[in-house]
Amino acid sequence: MDKICIDELKIFAHHGVFEHENINGQNFYINAVLSVDTEKAGMHDDLADSVDYSAVCALLNKVMTANTFRLIEAAAQTAAEAVLSEFPQVKNVEIEVRKPEAPIDMEFRSVSVKINRGWHRAVIALGSNKGDSRGYIEQAVAQLCSCSHIRGVRCSELIVTKPYGYTEQDDFLNGAVMCETMLSPHGLLEFCQSVENSANRTREIHWGPRTLDLDIILYDDEIISEPDLIVPHPDMHNRQFVLGPVAQLAPYYRHPVLGATVAQLLERLNKN
Ligand code: ATP
Ligand code: CA
Ligand code: CA
Repeated sequence: MDKICIDELKIFAHHGVFEHENINGQNFYINAVLSVDTEKAGMHDDLADSVDYSAVCALLNKVMTANTFRLIEAAAQTAAEAVLSEFPQVKNVEIEVRKPEAPIDMEFRSVSVKINRGWHRAVIALGSNKGDSRGYIEQAVAQLCSCSHIRGVRCSELIVTKPYGYTEQDDFLNGAVMCETMLSPHGLLEFCQSVENSANRTREIHWGPRTLDLDIILYDDEIISEPDLIVPHPDMHNRQFVLGPVAQLAPYYRHPVLGATVAQLLERLNKN
């Protein structure tokens, strides 16, 4: 991806853990690298097809001066989120916040925090078989849509399915959502769990009745195997109630471990 770079943007601001830093202020310097497809702007020589770097600088200045953060980590995070939110063509942003006048009693050139944030494709499966299932799922989709770290939410049709695993329970309503998110996989998991909790989700029986279940099915082409998060979802290829809705949204999304597309996985499952 092409890059637009801003080097050493000087901003006087008041960030720091010490009161004197918040009162007196000091100079900060920002380096930003924006990943943008510049082909169209390059061909048509029109700013409307690119990202206006002076507008980005103005936004960085606003974030840095309208807030007083204790940490340059928070300054960098807020700046990155603002750039991603306000300039939709920016797919990824690297932000470095430098603080050369930091209160350190030794000789040093600078301290800095450098972070990378971007938009990632994610697929989330939704299910419910307790209470007002349609209401819970619609509420969950609304919460995904209104999250400032998520954009471009597309929802599949909702389908009624027979319970899986533990079969002595009511039918499920299932669907899937595809979106872009600037949350990390773990950040997205945490958000999904907060959405579940807002539907009074409780956990009594494994695979048992639930008001709302949100599972991360796919996240970019990432393969994650951690105690609390496995992506792609380890059982997605065995579940019609997942593959059906996901195939509606993203039939050509390729499973990064199995190497087959969602449509192919569904076809295989239907055959067996
Ligand atoms: P299944 O994941 O087989 O559909 P479940 O949805 O009923 O089962 P839960 O009780 O909702 O399971 O979740 C148990 C734990 O699974 C969660 O606390 C979470 O940390 C973990 N987990 C691992 N991978 C994922 C994922 N891809 N999406 C959501 N949760 C996950
Ligand atoms: Ca589940
Ligand atoms: Ca779950």
